[in-house]
Amino acid sequence: MTELTTTDAAELGRLLAAGEVTAAEVTRAYLDRIEAEDGALGAYLHVDAEAALRSAEQVDAARAQGGELGPLAGVPLALKDVVVTEGVPTTSGSKILEGWRPPYDATLAARLKTAGTVLLGKTNMDEFAMGSSTENSAYRVTRNPWDHDRIPGGSSGGSSAAVAGGLAPWAIGTDTGGSIRQPAAVTGLVGHKPTYGSVSRYGLIAFSSSLDQAGPMARTVLDAALLHEAIAGHDPLDSTSIDFPVPVLAEAARRGAEGDLAGLRVGVVTELGGDGHTDGYDQGVLARTAETVALLESLGAEVRPVSCPAFDLALPAYYLIAPSEASSNLARFDGVRYGLRVGDDGNRDLDEVMALTREQGFGPEVKRRIILGTYALSSGYYDAYYGQAQKVRTLITRDFTTAWDDVDVLVSPTSPTVAWPVGARVDDPIAMYAADLCTLPASLAGVPAISVPCGLSEGLPVGFQIMAPALADDRCYRVAAALEAAQDAARGSRFLGQLPVRSAA
Ligand code: GLN
Repeated sequence: MTELTTTDAAELGRLLAAGEVTAAEVTRAYLDRIEAEDGALGAYLHVDAEAALRSAEQVDAARAQGGELGPLAGVPLALKDVVVTEGVPTTSGSKILEGWRPPYDATLAARLKTAGTVLLGKTNMDEFAMGSSTENSAYRVTRNPWDHDRIPGGSSGGSSAAVAGGLAPWAIGTDTGGSIRQPAAVTGLVGHKPTYGSVSRYGLIAFSSSLDQAGPMARTVLDAALLHEAIAGHDPLDSTSIDFPVPVLAEAARRGAEGDLAGLRVGVVTELGGDGHTDGYDQGVLARTAETVALLESLGAEVRPVSCPAFDLALPAYYLIAPSEASSNLARFDGVRYGLRVGDDGNRDLDEVMALTREQGFGPEVKRRIILGTYALSSGYYDAYYGQAQKVRTLITRDFTTAWDDVDVLVSPTSPTVAWPVGARVDDPIAMYAADLCTLPASLAGVPAISVPCGLSEGLPVGFQIMAPALADDRCYRVAAALEAAQDAARGSRFLGQLPVRSAA
């Protein structure tokens, strides 16, 4: 039965539908692994084994009665703790929300429930999704299953560790500036940031509303596509939701796996690790990227370098825009409406209670961003900082638009480096921010981008990023699936050879 936790989700769905295994058996296998491994890994903030088994048994009962069930029914799942879940603790990795049990489900959580998935638990994350290593969590450190002394990426590092470590078959992450793609890259997973507005943000605890987007993290391209399809589509509860048919993604992944990319025009972004732009990049990352580009060529793609000069400015622009929006979004945590309240002894006024609550409830990175964002938005500085950053954002979007005249997809490394040692960047925010170098342009322009494993460097996973025009998410999946199939064939095995599943002993 141990194989259940190394079986991909698509196959689990098939085994469940064929009656070869029950949802309760699959769920129990995962709960056993969580029990054995999560003490060391720290992937989860909350696991409710009884609730998980109960919902698995409901799926089994419905199936036994001959109910018409979807392809995901009975497959377990983990959700990043930024996703609001009815009656289930939701903290966004922050002490200020400790103990909060939301009275409603995020749209994506509701859709996954309706699809019959079984919620294993809520995963650890950087506080309010601010970070690239999950070390900004107010609760615990999460370890990379490939090497427990290294970070699992962030901010969706609990989700990446859970899936890579075999503690969930797949998981939902959110990506504001790279938080799905980078943790997927450094743990050897597939992670996709959907086109902005194509997955509902209703019930995601807001960080930077013009950037936040939820998406799948999985062990295979097909699994990511299946999970993505289940959460995508218009939602009247989210005013930025695009009214557009759910994209056909699993089919694109299956077609891509046939491996024919003849005629596909691929642009390799010069500014992301190309000639003259290699500062801060690992040699091993650059080598794997070059090999993957060569592999694309061998599958029939036409490859050319593409210069996107404004991408050089993505980091400073993002680190003004995201904190600005965060400073506004986080104003709702006032000690009155949710979670923590400090100093409400009948003698203090509202301002004092609010200040004490925020002092205790927010961690250092969150405070840094609120202060930075408030400053950038303040009168007299608004045009110089926030306004200027928005202009840069427009230039980045224009670089993409110009590129789409000549190429179908743009590619780059996902992360400039492999996973670094726990603790190595915690005292150096700028070094932490540098992890987002390659992922920020697609975030600022709202276009879809996927990270797919492309081999190892120093024994650690490297990710390859594929970006496509808005609403062409299917193209990301097609190209990623072609690469995955070619790499699996060359290696003679899947998942970068093996899941880095370790025993706690
Ligand atoms: N690392 C980036 C940040 O700290 C991105 C985070 C994210 O995508 N949520 O803001």
